[in-house]
Amino acid sequence: METDQVLEVIPLGGLGEFGMHMMAMRSAGSIIIVDAGVMFPDDELLGVDVIVPDIGYLLENKGAVRAILLTHGHEDHIGALPFILPYLNVPIYGSSFTIGLVKNKLAQHGLLEEAQLHIVKAKDAIELGCFKVEFFHVTHSIVDSFALAIRTPAGTVIHTGDFKIDPTPIDGKTFDLHTLAAYGDQGVLALFSDSTNAEIGGYTASERSVNDRFESIFRTSPGRIILSCFTSSIPRLQLVLDQARNFGRVVSFLGRRMSENTATAEELGFFKLPPGAVIRSKDIRNYPRERLCVVAGGCQGEPLSALSRLALNDHRDMKVEPGDTVVLSARVIPGNERAVTRMMDHFYRRRAEIYYPDGAQPPVHVSGHASEEELKLVLTLVKPRFFIPIHGMHRQLHRHARLAEKTGAVREKVIIAETGDILRFDPNGAEITGKAPVGRVLIDEGSLEEVEEIVVRDRRHISEDGIAVPIIAINKQTGMMEIAPELVFRGVTFVEEARILAESKQILIDTVNGSTIEERGDYTVIKEKIRKDLKRFIFKQTAKRPFILPVIMEI
Ligand SMILES: [Zn+2]
Ligand SMILES: [Zn+2]
Repeated sequence: METDQVLEVIPLGGLGEFGMHMMAMRSAGSIIIVDAGVMFPDDELLGVDVIVPDIGYLLENKGAVRAILLTHGHEDHIGALPFILPYLNVPIYGSSFTIGLVKNKLAQHGLLEEAQLHIVKAKDAIELGCFKVEFFHVTHSIVDSFALAIRTPAGTVIHTGDFKIDPTPIDGKTFDLHTLAAYGDQGVLALFSDSTNAEIGGYTASERSVNDRFESIFRTSPGRIILSCFTSSIPRLQLVLDQARNFGRVVSFLGRRMSENTATAEELGFFKLPPGAVIRSKDIRNYPRERLCVVAGGCQGEPLSALSRLALNDHRDMKVEPGDTVVLSARVIPGNERAVTRMMDHFYRRRAEIYYPDGAQPPVHVSGHASEEELKLVLTLVKPRFFIPIHGMHRQLHRHARLAEKTGAVREKVIIAETGDILRFDPNGAEITGKAPVGRVLIDEGSLEEVEEIVVRDRRHISEDGIAVPIIAINKQTGMMEIAPELVFRGVTFVEEARILAESKQILIDTVNGSTIEERGDYTVIKEKIRKDLKRFIFKQTAKRPFILPVIMEI
């Protein structure tokens, strides 16, 4: 019957926007989901910690959802799980390392016990309703990454996840091009492929190419080496650990997520770590500067991260001094440019030597995503009937589409879709037939000590808990508050309103006075400190969680 041979694919995030990858596939009464990621808010969205996809469409079809399949462990692919599982507790499948990261995340949110987590290995195949899914290995900036080959009643679909084709990966596990080509020979209905670097010509350099730069930095740096990269970049961190050992330095991991992810990697056997190579941060003071390498989380300039604290001389366990070296081994995610630039400026003030991706060779960072030539290779091997570029802003999706047309590898049609489009594949072809309800949900996570208070923030919640706007006038030269802070509440009422208001204002004064002049001059940092302290106080006193939107006036 014709109706059995219909497949609908609905991107719930990540097409025409940066991050928040999630895609639903629906056929013969079953739905499977690929990835469930977050998007990080930029400077403009203060008061918001992360952004997750609206899952209204899935909730409308709750009974049909069979599973969530994870391609790899990056936040833009797994970060939304804690906010989705309370509404949609379905089985989750992923690689050993991906599930390891998911476990940490769910444990923090008190969701680990009910979660149905399944570890799959490369070449494993599982059946979910009418779908049969095979996982196969791809190379990326995180270990244990998969692409998916999904047999559906309408034909086989390949979803690449994030990838590059690294011929010399650090862990020795290469991209499984044979499996990809075998599916191509059998005939693929549709290819969904990563467009992140579709505008970059040539090949993406191997992860190994940063090693030469690391080596010269380790060889020539007289003081401490402070390095930051994404906390899940295990291959990169292995290179750092190896260089540290070669040059007689111990390594200390700073920051909660950095410590947690590296511990998970070690536990699961993804790190080769000689005993004694890693020390606790409070032991840093016992080692001479030239014997230390500190690896800190916060490469995107997150205001309260370990790296940001080091930049502001506000870290409990160490201070950056002249002669120390800072290595920023990550690209700056669009939207974070100002925060990262400001953080680097603080490090320059400390008279540190700073390396960051500035085009110099060998590179201090390489991308984890495929460039044009690799994308063409995948297209040529798969030879799909339909090709749909995914993972990118419209610019990247269009570039990838044009590239595909040039190769001539697509047998029928290239389709540019965006988040929410319903893509229908049937024996007559493929087209966009409508729109599913999609959107972004803004999350205010609270500080980590208060995880049980996580509240999903949407318009409904704002109308319940209101808004608090602290207004503080700071003299940028002296860092002094020239007038008493103001605080305006909207849409929220308290018992003992006068007392709450007075004490809240005192919190504002204490927070500002408890910060250094440098911190007060960095509005991203001071706003985040105010937000955190005020949030904690108001919640403790009133059990309410208004959206807090600090305003700093420069005078
Ligand atoms: Zn990724
Ligand atoms: Zn990604």
